[in-house]
Amino acid sequence: MAKILNGMELSKQMRDMVAELCCQFELKYGHTVGLAIIQVGDNPSATSYVKNNLRMCKEVGISAYLHKLPAKTTQEEIIKLIEGLNADETVSGILLQLPLPEGIDVHKVACAIAPTKDVDGLNPYTAGNLYFGYPAFAPCTPSGVLELLKYTKTEFFGKHAVIVGASNIVGKPMSVLLMREQATVTVCNIYTKNLPEICRQADILISAAGKAELITKEYVKPGATVIDVGINFKNKKLVGDVKFDEVSEVAEWITPVPGGVGPMTVTMLMFNTYAAAIEGKESK
Ligand code: NAD
Repeated sequence: MAKILNGMELSKQMRDMVAELCCQFELKYGHTVGLAIIQVGDNPSATSYVKNNLRMCKEVGISAYLHKLPAKTTQEEIIKLIEGLNADETVSGILLQLPLPEGIDVHKVACAIAPTKDVDGLNPYTAGNLYFGYPAFAPCTPSGVLELLKYTKTEFFGKHAVIVGASNIVGKPMSVLLMREQATVTVCNIYTKNLPEICRQADILISAAGKAELITKEYVKPGATVIDVGINFKNKKLVGDVKFDEVSEVAEWITPVPGGVGPMTVTMLMFNTYAAAIEGKESK
């Protein structure tokens, strides 16, 4: 039976550390670490992420500044708000909560976020630096997955990592982070042929497709580490991309849903925000 990679436990340990660092920051600089969160419109999943982020900020002692804008807000107005936040010294990090309402160009808005405050790695400039291996904030979800993998004491070199899903926010940056660790990486998408066969070659299998229980035990090599990023609802129940019970019979490590990657994502946001605050001070 697979060992459970408990994201709740690891994220709590990391948040305790971030809370201590944020406390020291406040003592040293006389003000708190600050995170500005921008939500445009009322998308229910965005509202739920924002609520969770606000709760975690409170837990670790980060001041959260929520800018909840109506769905009819123009792109120019959002960019103007971001420019103001870029110049605001009380704001260490900026989180642009996705999705944005239709008609708003995410690329143009993300380009407005100062790379020094881009704590979810949305600006293409940040992504470019990450790609080249220069200092940059990596998006929080793949960063959280990397922390979970490091917790298993995985040696990455010589390992084959297969990522199912190639989005800008999960699959692609995940591939870059794993390449930086010298893993051999394959990235699959909806058009990939022979998906089970490719997945069965993986020492590390990461699913971020958003397809309920896509990954069955036929997709998994015995002894693999399986990370489930997916968040799906099946018969009103929250499930991942991985058929947990049967994959647990073959994998060595497995993340549960909920309680795996999700808590790590929000914790990495707290960590990146602290890192942005300290870098902001030390670069002066
Ligand atoms: P997305 O829709 O932007 O991208 C999905 C990717 O998966 C695409 O590249 C697509 O081609 C691929 N894909 C879809 N179906 C596939 C299939 N049957 N076979 C192979 N590839 C397939 O999604 P996203 O924003 O990257 O999110 C993916 C999932 O991860 C969603 O369930 C989302 O809710 C979840 N998510 C979780 C967290 C977290 O913190 N746990 C954070 C972000 C996203």
